[in-house]
Amino acid sequence: IVDLIEVRKSFGAVEVLKGVTFSVAPGSVAAIIGQSGSGKSTALRCMDGLEQVQGGELWVCGHKLHEPRFDKRALRRDVGIVFQSYNLFPHLTVEQNVTLALRLVKGQRGGEATDVAGAMLDKVGLGEKRGSYPEQLSGGQQQRVAIARSLAMQPKLMLFDEVTSALDPKLTGEVLRVMEQLAADGMTMVLVTHEMQFARNVANTVVYMRDGRVHEIGGPEILVRPNTPELADFVAHEY
Ligand code: ATP
Ligand code: MG
Repeated sequence: IVDLIEVRKSFGAVEVLKGVTFSVAPGSVAAIIGQSGSGKSTALRCMDGLEQVQGGELWVCGHKLHEPRFDKRALRRDVGIVFQSYNLFPHLTVEQNVTLALRLVKGQRGGEATDVAGAMLDKVGLGEKRGSYPEQLSGGQQQRVAIARSLAMQPKLMLFDEVTSALDPKLTGEVLRVMEQLAADGMTMVLVTHEMQFARNVANTVVYMRDGRVHEIGGPEILVRPNTPELADFVAHEY
């Protein structure tokens, strides 16, 4: 469903992705880990079409993102992305935040959009909060609304960029549980995370990025028995 083949990306003279290759199979979870500045977010943003790749091939849900003229609207329907900041509209209720994109992008009518929103909010454990405003929710709850909003679009692929980094441990747990459930339901996911325990439990593939390259890749066991001294060092400091 996702294939990166020698993907390259520069910002000005700085090459940030120096030939990145890995794949994500349908229904599987890939966790991208690595030091700050190693290119994790850039790789994810490329997969969401937010950044144009400059070399190699990038296939996402059948779309050729390495071709400048790929269909952005079609990609929007297939891929959902959630960031560290939730970016909810403060003047809209939880339910309105979720239905907005359904109305705008999918052209769904009021009742239909409300039904989908309700189902997705139930899924993330916030069915009771549909009438609340974002400021009345905890950070973890707001992040779960952001996840519900993405899920409502029924994407084939979900991307998560350090979605729990701004949360304290208790709230982190409730967001991770939602993601764990999603994985169990068979959603294909790529997540950038610093939660090593979570990566170990949920990921099928772990991608360790270092200086714009995939330095080590393998099953979650590489977090326990790394093959390179660099990953061993990284893991020792992250746990
Ligand atoms: P972190 O763990 O801190 O989030 P990261 O692995 O996600 O790091 P990226 O955000 O992908 O790292 O950034 C990789 C490099 O690319 C950094 O050196 C960063 O400064 C640079 N970079 C990222 N986005 C831009 C941009 N829009 N313009 C210029 N440089 C950028
Ligand atoms: Mg990042």
